[in-house]
Amino acid sequence: MRIEKLPSDFKQALPVLEEIEKAGFEAYFVGGSVRDHILGIPIHDVDIATSAYPEEIKSIFKRTVDTGIQHGTVTVLINDDSYEITTFRTESGYQDFRRPDKVTFVRSLKDDLKRRDFTINALAVDRNGNVIDKFDGLGDLNKRVIRAVGKAEERFHEDALRMMRAVRFQSQLNFKVEEETAVAIKDNAYLLEKIAIERIREEFIKLMLGKAWQTGFADFLNLDLSEHCPTFSGQRDNLSKLLELDDLKFEDEESAWTAIGYVMALTPKQFNKMLRNWKVSNKSREASVATDKMLKNFQNKDFDLWDIYSLGVDNFDRTIKLCKLFKIEIDDNKLSKMVRDIPIKSSRDLAITGNDIIKILDIKPGPEIGKYMSEIEHKVVEGTVYNNFDKLEHYLLSE
Ligand code: ATP
Ligand code: MG
Repeated sequence: MRIEKLPSDFKQALPVLEEIEKAGFEAYFVGGSVRDHILGIPIHDVDIATSAYPEEIKSIFKRTVDTGIQHGTVTVLINDDSYEITTFRTESGYQDFRRPDKVTFVRSLKDDLKRRDFTINALAVDRNGNVIDKFDGLGDLNKRVIRAVGKAEERFHEDALRMMRAVRFQSQLNFKVEEETAVAIKDNAYLLEKIAIERIREEFIKLMLGKAWQTGFADFLNLDLSEHCPTFSGQRDNLSKLLELDDLKFEDEESAWTAIGYVMALTPKQFNKMLRNWKVSNKSREASVATDKMLKNFQNKDFDLWDIYSLGVDNFDRTIKLCKLFKIEIDDNKLSKMVRDIPIKSSRDLAITGNDIIKILDIKPGPEIGKYMSEIEHKVVEGTVYNNFDKLEHYLLSE
């Protein structure tokens, strides 16, 4: 197969390929960008693989950065663009079911493609648009299947994260996992426990945010991967409730986590612990916990202006969407009126500052000021005191 018209991202990178070839080496576009272009999906980063060793690449180009030199990756800066160029390599000695002990640079493209995870990710394109397809990746793109390169079982033993990548690509591309590959995942799902949770989480989030997440998530459950993830063991029935919901797409990580916590019927404490076990960032964890709390407040019809105000706009929108999803009844009109009635958006909108409080009460700066500010914020939000300097001054002096 030949790509007649290279996408602009590839065209822009052609001088890089040409320079490498002029120096007597091979260079190709590889990986996700090739797969996505053939599928007609917009491509993001362009990866280039070459027969030149890192030192050779560095001698060809004036401006380079040693991004991951031990793995063979050098970043080349040309005009205003930068490209990651990785030397063909083979990997060996995966003693711990993750990352290879040894990376060997090689001159053969085929050897490099052979170490890649799935056939659809093992395609290369030369500068004339010729597609090099050693493992029938094109056939699998056509059939819309995710198939391991070589023996699936071995490939998952080398790096167990690939099993998560399979269901992640399934979700992003709406492909099926090919039968043999699926069986090997089920047989080896326990190996996931060897993998750092951060790496699993990254793939899991991509899965949950993919356009066909239901199919990826269904296999994540059916192929036993979920059994070897933190807090998910023994939760298959609960988790599969997510698949019964109306068609929906999660817009962010926080919505996905909150929905998961909801179907697992976790208490706030358990939910927070689950997010900690998954090593979710503090920011996302706090937003998810706030969303989860509010979802339950809506369910119990037990909330006030302060609850809504302190939730913040993003968490509020997220909660409303999740209410609709879980068919939790909310009175839209009443709610919009409540939101409109809140006189400030944040403490920055208060008509008084910490310095004002110091002057009015003739006190020294210190933690006390924060307490007064927070008290005033509550009063203003609840509507007991007007957000006006004189009224706030009067309130402070009368306390
Ligand atoms: P994305 O669109 O998410 O970037 P991608 O296919 O480019 O998808 P990357 O993680 O960027 O995925 O990896 C680039 C390429 O490197 C893959 O297409 C694949 O060929 C190879 N690769 C990445 N991770 C692995 C792995 N764990 N095992 C084998 N090959 C891998
Ligand atoms: Mg990529």
